[in-house]
Amino acid sequence: MCITHLSGMQIKYQLEEEQIPKRWYNIQADLPTPLDPVYSPQTLKPVTPEELNVIFPMALIGQEVSQERYIDIPEEVREIYRYWRPSPLCRARRLEEQLKTPAKIYYKYEGVSPPGSHKPNTAVPQAYYNMKEGITRLATETGAGQWGSALAFATALFDMKCTVYMVRSSYFEKPYRKSMMQTWGAECIPSPSEKTQVGKAMLAKDPKTPGSLGMAISEAVEDAATHDDTNYSLGSVLNHVCLHQTVIGQESMEQFKQAGDQPDIIVGCVGGGSNMAGISFPYLGEKLRGKRKDLRAIAVEPSSCPTLTKGIYAYDYGDTAGIGPIAKMYTLGHDFVPPAIHAGGLRYHGDSPIVSRLVRDKVMEAVAVHQTEVFQAAVTFARSEGIIPAPESAHAIRVVIDEALKCRTTNEKKTILFNLSGHGNLDLAAYDDYFAGKLSDFEYPDSKIAESLTRLPKVG
Ligand SMILES: *Cc1c(COP(=O)(O)O)cnc(C)c1O
Repeated sequence: MCITHLSGMQIKYQLEEEQIPKRWYNIQADLPTPLDPVYSPQTLKPVTPEELNVIFPMALIGQEVSQERYIDIPEEVREIYRYWRPSPLCRARRLEEQLKTPAKIYYKYEGVSPPGSHKPNTAVPQAYYNMKEGITRLATETGAGQWGSALAFATALFDMKCTVYMVRSSYFEKPYRKSMMQTWGAECIPSPSEKTQVGKAMLAKDPKTPGSLGMAISEAVEDAATHDDTNYSLGSVLNHVCLHQTVIGQESMEQFKQAGDQPDIIVGCVGGGSNMAGISFPYLGEKLRGKRKDLRAIAVEPSSCPTLTKGIYAYDYGDTAGIGPIAKMYTLGHDFVPPAIHAGGLRYHGDSPIVSRLVRDKVMEAVAVHQTEVFQAAVTFARSEGIIPAPESAHAIRVVIDEALKCRTTNEKKTILFNLSGHGNLDLAAYDDYFAGKLSDFEYPDSKIAESLTRLPKVG
């Protein structure tokens, strides 16, 4: 494709390090009604801060329930953010050309962090607050390995230890993020494992289980709950995780000022909801406060794990064994084991309670897409913009392309913003499978979902 006519046109909108946000934005302050309380799996009553303190530091428990609109980012955390923030906002001009769309497409690129995704935006403050409260080790789960590698990176910066329970199928099929975790000094264990009681029980039930995020969470929670020096850390879903990710959307607002533009549509992929929260919440806060009335936010998930589009809005456990807190969210049932699609980061049975609430209240839309059309979009993007997107992020790209093509039909000049949550340089095996025609599409059967939903906890 000839690009000379693009000469002189701005591609990247960049901020100075001093423009890294000084505060995180807390959308809870702008919700019309407060979130439903989280319940304890032991007492089946609203969970107390003391109960949560067994696995989380008080600072994060405070952020989890805070109703303050802004929360200061500690200077030590901003210092570290400077290694990859502010991340660039880019105009996808060549993709626009390729699609012959009048729409303007922008993406915020979070693949510039050392682990290659948005996840260090929360891994760093989580490690920091735990370190401050005297914790020396963090235990966590990981699916495809992005979160495990992000937390391994963050704990290394604060001289902490890190134990990562990695979904068994990914541990063997996707070895390179495990290598990253080891390089940053973390211990990575295939889950379910013999290290925990819940892991042993799961292996006894099904010795060949591929594992799931829900199972790995159960193991990490047990590890944290049974060791005084250890806390648990979650890479998505929770309110404080969504909060930390709002640096993404806040930076993009400044960058749009530079561009003299405004998004009409914001698109993000959703696994647990944190990168979508990060890019969209600062804008949706304005929408909830009565500005930006026409702004659309579209959450994109895989058809094989259709939490927002086919799940129900109900109380459920965050983990498979039912030892973690119970939250009101869209869920497919805590013992739902999704098929092994390539976007490992999007295979969680539940979703962020805040994202769930916004979808239920129609402040945010949700759509599900199939993985072959997702990879087709990923390749289109890579061939026009250069960056090879993470398969997770490519879910957002699929919908961005669809929306841009609609604009071609209607001849509308809409501005579309999406979060490019990570690069796919460690996911090339998935691309190989796509080119070899080995990817199949999988629609999760309604009957299976209905069955899982019969086992929801009865609270609230
Ligand atoms: C983990 C991950 C996701 C999904 O998690 P969310 O909490 O929904 O953002 C999406 N993209 C990338 C690159 C990831 O690593």
